[in-house]
Amino acid sequence: MPPGEFQRWAEELARWIATYLDEVDDYPVMARTRPGDLRAQLPERAPERGESMDRILSDFQELILPGITHWNHPSFFAYFAVTGSGPGILGEMLAAALNVNAMLWRTSPAATELEEHVTDWLRRLLGLPEGFHGVIQDTASTSSLVALAAARHRAFPRVREDGLFGTQPGRVYASTEAHSSIEKAVVTLGMGRQGFRKIPADAGFRMDPEALRAAIRQDRDRGVRPVAVVATVGTTSTTSSDPVEAIAEIAAEHQLWLHVDAAYAGAAAMVPEFRAPFTGWERADSVVFNPHKWLFTPVDCSVLHTRYPEVIRDAFSLVPEYLTSSPGEEATNLMDYGVALGRRFRALKLWFVLRWFGAEGIRDRIREHVRLARYFAQEVDGASEWERAAPVPFSTVVFRFAPPGVAADACDRWNRAIMEKVNRTGEAFLSHTALDGRTWLRLSVGNLRTRASHLDRAWTLLQEAAEGEQF
Ligand SMILES: *Cc1c(COP(=O)(O)O)cnc(C)c1O
Repeated sequence: MPPGEFQRWAEELARWIATYLDEVDDYPVMARTRPGDLRAQLPERAPERGESMDRILSDFQELILPGITHWNHPSFFAYFAVTGSGPGILGEMLAAALNVNAMLWRTSPAATELEEHVTDWLRRLLGLPEGFHGVIQDTASTSSLVALAAARHRAFPRVREDGLFGTQPGRVYASTEAHSSIEKAVVTLGMGRQGFRKIPADAGFRMDPEALRAAIRQDRDRGVRPVAVVATVGTTSTTSSDPVEAIAEIAAEHQLWLHVDAAYAGAAAMVPEFRAPFTGWERADSVVFNPHKWLFTPVDCSVLHTRYPEVIRDAFSLVPEYLTSSPGEEATNLMDYGVALGRRFRALKLWFVLRWFGAEGIRDRIREHVRLARYFAQEVDGASEWERAAPVPFSTVVFRFAPPGVAADACDRWNRAIMEKVNRTGEAFLSHTALDGRTWLRLSVGNLRTRASHLDRAWTLLQEAAEGEQF
């Protein structure tokens, strides 16, 4: 693409993006398409001859946009709400333009050093002590996989050479409320689902440390090797937090790797009044937090902090001749810290975000999101036929319509129907979860454009949907 043409389209797209972000409320939050709709409109084969950018962009508008669920919409409340902020988008644009692959220090020294530096900024902001080394992965699923691979390497150093066949069975522990990515990591690491043990949670959805201790003891007695325990701060269903301090104590007693999953809630550790649930995480062996969740950084960006980068390196590093560095170039090579060789320059957008907002700016916005979530929780509390499942320590509210005298199954169906109805309006998008087998609705605040008026509207839509349904 000739430079002049590139510039024209870049300007056109910059305008499009600015307008899109400004008017994103005008789109239905959740895509209204059906499975297969987009593919039915696309040609079977890639074009033989190049097409004009005009045509490509007009198809983007006509075909692609209708199939987009707008995560940047201020009324996106499903899962965990996020923001692709202006500075983050600009950082991502430059990363795409530079197109560096930060596999080795020499393949872009600045990409490696900025990643080390910006993750250290983040460590300080999160209040983690010195000695935690940061590395950026694509997602929390990968960060947790890498952390648990290191844990497995520490427990079974021979596995790297010999494989898992014939070794003593190992076990990773996490609460019943832990994210599915933990069990998936255990499966991926070859430990099998048997290698994962769910520890019961209390009425507040927090891991019961005595149950953890008993499980470890029982496993040891049966010849199973305890490998790691994962504590969650900000679980996916209710944003409850495991008692990290007590779990750290048990991990130390039994020499387990302690991994803390704060993929969503980590941002709240930057705000003094929301820090209590994180107490004890400074004793972890590794901690994951996703800036692409509640830190205004475009997907993907997950930061894994660990006290033992050398264990990760020992577990993963494999350097063929064609990837060796020259003498005198002793520096971090990011390829040694995970599965992938190639790495995007993700630190750039995080650097843009941290600098543009500043620590104070970030804290103010996190506070505002928590305030908005608690405001919504108050609305729910004030309505006699609605109830909440859990407190609101962060920015997520878990609630449901529960009129008296309605059987459990009917109530579950009723709530699913309410959610579908609200989501179909296109004005707001919520998701659901199950707690003790019952259906609950979740509303998560994390978008910088969300105002109290958006929550008021969501609340009205929910109430209207509840009244319109009969079970
Ligand atoms: C979102 C989330 C994950 C998974 O995050 P990905 O980056 O999508 O892999 C894991 N754990 C917790 C607690 C989460 O909130």
